[in-house]
Amino acid sequence: MLATEKRATPGPLTQLTEEEKMFQSSVRQFARDRIGPQVRSMDEAGVFRKDLIQEFFSLGLMAIDVPEQYGGQGGYFFQSILAIEELAKVDPSAAVIVDVQNTLFNNAILRWSTEDQKRRYLPRLGKDTVASYALSEAGSGSDAFALATRAVEDGGHYRITGRKLWITNAHEAGLYLLFATVNPDAGYKGITAFLIEREFPGFAVGKKEDKLGIRASSTCELILDDCRVPKANVVGEVGKGYKIAIETLNEGRIGIGAQMAGLAQGALDHALAYARQRKQFGKTISEFQGVQFDLAEMAVEVEAARLMVYNAARLRDAGLPFVTEAAMCKYFASQVAERTASRAVEVLGGVGFTKDYPVEKLYRDSKIGRIYEGTSNIQRVTIAKQMLGNRS
Ligand SMILES: Cc1cc2nc3c(=O)[nH]c(=O)nc-3n(C[C@H](O)[C@H](O)[C@H](O)COP(=O)(O)OP(=O)(O)OC[C@H]3O[C@@H](n4cnc5c(N)ncnc54)[C@H](O)[C@@H]3O)c2cc1C
Repeated sequence: MLATEKRATPGPLTQLTEEEKMFQSSVRQFARDRIGPQVRSMDEAGVFRKDLIQEFFSLGLMAIDVPEQYGGQGGYFFQSILAIEELAKVDPSAAVIVDVQNTLFNNAILRWSTEDQKRRYLPRLGKDTVASYALSEAGSGSDAFALATRAVEDGGHYRITGRKLWITNAHEAGLYLLFATVNPDAGYKGITAFLIEREFPGFAVGKKEDKLGIRASSTCELILDDCRVPKANVVGEVGKGYKIAIETLNEGRIGIGAQMAGLAQGALDHALAYARQRKQFGKTISEFQGVQFDLAEMAVEVEAARLMVYNAARLRDAGLPFVTEAAMCKYFASQVAERTASRAVEVLGGVGFTKDYPVEKLYRDSKIGRIYEGTSNIQRVTIAKQMLGNRS
């Protein structure tokens, strides 16, 4: 091969198509101009503004990879990742609302629901209905398949009774993908997924948690008291809900990786801006090598986290195995988010510790990355299993 001939090689991970660049820049502008001014008050109130959620719908952010025939944007998974990352730079609460809707709920419906369910529900998800993904319970977190919520067959319905805990978006949601067991003796093989409308009799949203971080994102209990759910709302096969849960969470983890990588970039951006203008000893603090080294290390870690997230998302879109990479990117990006936000607080000195600057909130928000959608230990379990056993 002559030196002048070009090999056909895959492009760099961070190289975006024109369409992706336009999409990224529109989400970036929306996050900065529309969400930015509201972040502090929403964090203090612990409530995400309804008008901003309506803007998510208008911008097409709530059904990114839902086909146009069902009222979605006809996009793909990587675009959801770009949107989550951009939103998280400004507000990780905004990012998780879009994340749960796209990477968990819509994703599960697109892959496992019937044509009838798609026609009934997908158009609402792109228009005005927020969705939740309800797996965890008080007694089953990391051990998710130890869930106790029970579904009992009753003619054309199931009657579901139990409690779900920690459910993101639950306060705003109109639809819930909820996991219950039809046979507790069958272990994980009894787990079944149900589509539940908020108005179904016997269903109620309970207590809303008061949290350390992502305070504007609602996290609530769900109460099911003999809730009647039509059999037509079973998602996938009865007894195969565990597969839906495992596979959607594998993808969802890339979304949390994107949230954490975006959060870290946001914190770094604030640290850079402050270092350029803050003067001590007659110089800007960015002129001190100690501060420069801090900023440089932060940038290295954020870049590494972003590359891992993009790679996992691109693998998923290419139909290649991605389970290990998804767990790795979530595990690493959540560490990077916590470290970067912590260092950003220090670069800002005293003001970094106050609510007058955004880094204090990003530091609080970073903690959740190591907890939800599988704690850091659970990611390590997954990574080790994949290395020591079969890769899927
Ligand atoms: C803000 C927030 C939002 C959430 N949103 C949702 C949602 O939308 N839907 C949903 O279904 N759930 C949601 N969750 C629940 C979340 O996924 C669980 O909290 C998480 O999986 C951990 O479960 P746990 O809280 O029961 O902790 P536990 O499982 O009790 O874990 C406690 C500690 O033990 C460790 N541990 C447990 N098992 C092992 C093991 N085998 N090996 C090593 N260490 C282990 C864990 O790593 C952790 O450090 C949310 C939680 C929060 C806080």
